Amino acid sequence: MTQYVLDTSVFLNQIHPDGDLFTVPKVVEEIRNSPSKNYFSNLVQIGLLVESPSSSSILDVTKMAERTGDIGKLSDTDISLIALAKTKSATIVSSDFAIQNVSLALEIEWISPDRKGIKSLLFWKWRCEACFHIFDKPLKECNICGSTLRAIRSK
Ligand SMILES: [Zn+2]
Repeated sequence: MTQYVLDTSVFLNQIHPDGDLFTVPKVVEEIRNSPSKNYFSNLVQIGLLVESPSSSSILDVTKMAERTGDIGKLSDTDISLIALAKTKSATIVSSDFAIQNVSLALEIEWISPDRKGIKSLLFWKWRCEACFHIFDKPLKECNICGSTLRAIRSK
């Protein structure tokens, strides 16, 4: 059976694929409302397992997210989810574009619960709105003129 790693949105939207189901401890912490908690309990009863990724996978995911420029858009939970999918060679279930993009870059299969999602790998850079200097990493402000940076696609 296909292995799936479920992100928080799966529990909020209460749609899951059939297969061997996994999630990470950080997602469990994020599930707060009772319908989502009930849904989580039901999935545990049909075999959902909560596992942590290997630390080498976390490192690989972090490095790739820095390369694609998604690092600023990913929470620790997101990185943990992608890393678990990598550790287990599982398919990640997420509607988050940054998660999808980094998964694609790492050749991890992903599906979106709503069947939408990115079509191809995106690389991001940040451009100053005032002086148009381009940065590889998201900064709080342009370190040349102090203006706001905006994410742009670099490819
Ligand atoms: Zn600037």
